[in-house]
Amino acid sequence: MLDRELLETKLAELPLFQYEFIKTEELLFSENIRYICKTECPMYGKTWACPPGVGEVSECKARVLAFEDALCITTVTEVNDIADIEETLATRAPHEAITRQVRDLVAEQGCETLVLSTEACAHCEDCAYPDEPCRHPEYMFPCVESHGIIVTDIAEKHGIAFMNGNIVTWFSLILFK
Ligand code: SF4
Repeated sequence: MLDRELLETKLAELPLFQYEFIKTEELLFSENIRYICKTECPMYGKTWACPPGVGEVSECKARVLAFEDALCITTVTEVNDIADIEETLATRAPHEAITRQVRDLVAEQGCETLVLSTEACAHCEDCAYPDEPCRHPEYMFPCVESHGIIVTDIAEKHGIAFMNGNIVTWFSLILFK
């Protein structure tokens, strides 16, 4: 059983913008997101963290719903120009590092975890997908959207803000049981 008070004491030491505990039954899943993955994301079919490597939406949903609880976290970083993709994407690695720290804090309380985070996995220079299994599953956090989860819905339900202007907001979900 997670000691939330203890966890929140430790979360307060991290540069998180917001965090919220949620129930996974609140998450809304949609097959339609896969259309966006297929037609708009250059990482579709490139890593184990993205479709189709993560499996069908129904499989992803079952994987998520095997966990009753989750912690949503966001970080924000100001950039000079949010349209500068290189500058904007450079803010992702620090968010992923914080996501790992939060996952470790939850796991050190004896919880099993599943982490969904941002974009595709960039851990290895050349992903093993699709010829070999993932080399580092402990560092492979599938993208939240890859699992068909509508992030804006859960964000609205819990008052999680996505900032405007030159501020990059990254969102992760740490599922635990
Ligand atoms: S950890 Fe490596 S092998 Fe696994 S998904 Fe990420 S890049 Fe691919």
